[in-house]
Amino acid sequence: MRKHRIAAIPGDGIGKEVVAAGVEALSALAALDGGFTLEFEHFDWGSDYYKRTGTMMPADGLEQLKPFDAIYFGSVGAPDLPDHITLWGLRLAICQPFDQYANVRPTRILNGIESPLRNAGVGDLDWVIVRENTEGEYAGQGGRSHRGHPEEVATEVAIFTRAGVRRIMRFAFRTAQSRPRKFLTVVTKSNAQRNGLVMWDEIAAEVALEFPDVTWDKMLVDAMTVRMTMKPRSLDTIVATNLHADILSDLAAALAGSMGIAPTANLNPERQFPSMFEPIHGSAFDITGMGIANPIGTFWSGQMMLEHLGEQAAADRLMRAIEKVAADKGLHTPDLGGSARTADVTAGLIAAL
Ligand code: NAD
Ligand code: MN
Repeated sequence: MRKHRIAAIPGDGIGKEVVAAGVEALSALAALDGGFTLEFEHFDWGSDYYKRTGTMMPADGLEQLKPFDAIYFGSVGAPDLPDHITLWGLRLAICQPFDQYANVRPTRILNGIESPLRNAGVGDLDWVIVRENTEGEYAGQGGRSHRGHPEEVATEVAIFTRAGVRRIMRFAFRTAQSRPRKFLTVVTKSNAQRNGLVMWDEIAAEVALEFPDVTWDKMLVDAMTVRMTMKPRSLDTIVATNLHADILSDLAAALAGSMGIAPTANLNPERQFPSMFEPIHGSAFDITGMGIANPIGTFWSGQMMLEHLGEQAAADRLMRAIEKVAADKGLHTPDLGGSARTADVTAGLIAAL
């Protein structure tokens, strides 16, 4: 029997609700499969923990997480704490030290889900966004001086390293190569960001030579929003910087029907550290505690986690069940225009499994 140890970190807000649903669904799947077990250990880190202790996670938190095969994460953010404290105190405090440099965000319009795009349906939008996840605009470089004075200054320095850009480009070209269309779009802004993003473009062209079977093109990030909405079929695999991909992937999630559906994998491809799987949404203060959060993004993130753990058959089975649930309007939560509750969707998913 194969055994996988998973650290579950529900975090804050609806993160707690959707991770509970995800753990229930994945445990049911493992029991049905019979070939592997998932051992979940729960960590109560996040904003409540911060209010008790003054930190989002214990000082030895990373040491505690290191032995796990994967991390199943909810979200961070509380209405009464500054977002930069919660985000840097937990989510980024895991992604950066564990060198989870490839953030992978698949997007599809699932059968039964309506896209806000007038003429887009199933198959018209089938993308994988690869987000650089450790440097760029979110490297954490910068500072503030002369606080409160008229001459106060704040810097937020974007960092691009040759090693960092090369490894994300290689990852993106490999991802494109693994998909039927073998087509990559490199998102840039080298007209205005004339240092880091010019190097970004140069390295893309260099890495492209290693992948002669992949076709690729280049797109300025502002024009990319137009292409995503007006010509969604013209895209397949997409690579972008930390900030650009953060924004584009929320747009992608909305175009595919809801923020509640979209999954993410934060991968350390070399497997020196555990990778982390989470829905792309945040704590959703407006619906916290109401029992109506859409758990599909968390289920789909669980599917990506199973793939990473080598449980491909179970991952495929879970994806088929997700598609079945999405196609059933009676199991749509309010974000999809329905009136189902998180618990209904979870029960429906387990029945579909
Ligand atoms: P959000 O994703 O929490 O919410 C945006 C909108 O989408 C809200 O109307 C919300 O109700 C809806 N929504 C999101 N997930 C949903 C789901 N599963 N089912 C149904 N509806 C859903 O984004 P926000 O409002 O910008 O941020 C709220 C907090 O979350 C902030 O503190 C922010 O910093 C944090 N945040 C954390 C992460 C993360 O942990 N990875 C990501 C994004 C935002
Ligand atoms: Mn985001």
